[in-house]
Amino acid sequence: MTRARIGVLALQGDVREHSRALAGLGADVVLVRRPEDLAEVAGLVLPGGESSVIDKLSRAFGMRDPIRTAIADGMPVLGTCAGLILLADRLEDGIAGQQTFGGLDATVRRNAFGSQTESFETDLDVPAVGDPRARATFIRAPIVSEVGPSAEVIARLPDGGVVGVRQGRVVGLSFHPELDGETRFHELLLDTARDA
Ligand code: GLN
Repeated sequence: MTRARIGVLALQGDVREHSRALAGLGADVVLVRRPEDLAEVAGLVLPGGESSVIDKLSRAFGMRDPIRTAIADGMPVLGTCAGLILLADRLEDGIAGQQTFGGLDATVRRNAFGSQTESFETDLDVPAVGDPRARATFIRAPIVSEVGPSAEVIARLPDGGVVGVRQGRVVGLSFHPELDGETRFHELLLDTARDA
């Protein structure tokens, strides 16, 4: 089987952790900074980091429209934390002028957990990746505050809060599987990219 070529948007954020996870699964990893890089890949990771910075840099680097087009054309995408924010069709508590790429029919609220729970870890039941439960680290994490009819919830906190959404080939997570050696979401991206 040929190695799937997967991009990681490498403008800001935890690019290295995602690259490692993908390389560990046998993917050919491309750091995506320019539209030419995007044209080479069969799937894309939007990393955790600071969504407002990634948004600004993506516009400065001429990446916003190519990424929007790739998503509209069906490119498989995995976004974690800031990456989830960037995939939201609707954003709450963004900074002034903050934009998203969109792709998920959902509203995402930035920094949704109060100061006492700015950072926490838990195990989540995620049927899309099966057993065992997924280890999930949340860091100044967003929450999905509303899910539209085109998107599907794939992960919830014990209190019901939505922290994972899928729409077609696009998956967005509030947490950071790349920090926990939890590679099943990256595997899902690879499988989707191979099938696409
Ligand atoms: N709070 C960050 C943002 O708004 C996301 C945090 C993260 O990616 N760990 O983009």
